[in-house]
Amino acid sequence: MHDVVIVGSGCAGNTAAIYAARANLKPLVIKGHEAGGQLALTTLVENFPGFPEGIFGPDLVENMKRQAEHFGAEYMDGNVTEADLSKRPFRIKVEGDPIEARTLIIASGASARWLGLPSEQRLIGKGVSSCATCDGFFYKGKKIMVIGGGDSAMEEANFLSRFGTEVTVVHRNDKFRASKIMYDRAKANPKLHFLTSTVVEEVNDVHKDMVTSVRLRNTQTGAVWERDVDGFFVAIGHIPNTKVFRGQIDTDPDGYIVSKGGARTNIPGVFHAGDVQDRHYRQAITASGAGCMAAIEAEKMLEAEGIGA
Ligand code: NDP
Repeated sequence: MHDVVIVGSGCAGNTAAIYAARANLKPLVIKGHEAGGQLALTTLVENFPGFPEGIFGPDLVENMKRQAEHFGAEYMDGNVTEADLSKRPFRIKVEGDPIEARTLIIASGASARWLGLPSEQRLIGKGVSSCATCDGFFYKGKKIMVIGGGDSAMEEANFLSRFGTEVTVVHRNDKFRASKIMYDRAKANPKLHFLTSTVVEEVNDVHKDMVTSVRLRNTQTGAVWERDVDGFFVAIGHIPNTKVFRGQIDTDPDGYIVSKGGARTNIPGVFHAGDVQDRHYRQAITASGAGCMAAIEAEKMLEAEGIGA
């Protein structure tokens, strides 16, 4: 029986672990299928306070984990495959292994949706990114491409126009899903160019281990051509990792956890932290803050029940 089980080992989960461990609650952290979360996929992080020279994403998240372990947190490999949250203690299974938890912090994040091209996957962190706020700065004076036709793509393209010499938005459709205001703003930006009814066939060049160009195809004419590009930003949405909790935890239609205030979910004793609930800010620092909130709420609840006080 664990006082606190934390699902996810990104910024939110690790920060929750630091706080819960320092409250002497010996949290168990289930690492999940993307151990370290999205930071583990980035390069230099320059906007996390406290690191004037920046810090590499994988180092930042590993430091958080070591900090939590230093205070007694335990980490377990694997993914939550089953969850019964109908009564306390909550019962979950990690790859078949049963675990009981008095409180549960869901910090399982949201995974960026990718196109799925092998070349795209090979070049993540080497010119391919899913986070303009994180990586835009590296493309000062460079050619940038943004994939997508929703609000994220418009927002990222506008943001990236501060850095790039030109930003090309590539959208598979001829109509945009983005809200009118976001689309109009993007259209009015002289640095942005739009390619509609266009799909990406290949990101070059895996042999050079960096993005140099992209092969595109017009879905209406069938025309295929290459375009030079240095930064390739995929903004086609995120998928919150809540599948295993569906039907028990209240989520919105896209699967994001609906907050009941603070870090609370609809089930007392189950708390949310980070991108699994936040579709708006999605930053390392906001996820860390949310992890802190969730741990404090779990601690207060257990304290009121006479545990860990
Ligand atoms: P959306 O789901 O709204 O849009 C995703 C876009 O990516 C669509 O245009 C879709 O194309 C395209 N797409 C999806 N899969 C693929 C694929 N495999 N290949 C090529 N293109 C693909 O996601 P967003 O992240 O843009 O937005 C999510 C939510 O967050 C929305 O509710 C949005 O309003 C909100 N948001 C609000 C912001 C704000 O108000 N400031 C900023 C960012 C997001 P298609 O249209 O053809 O389906």
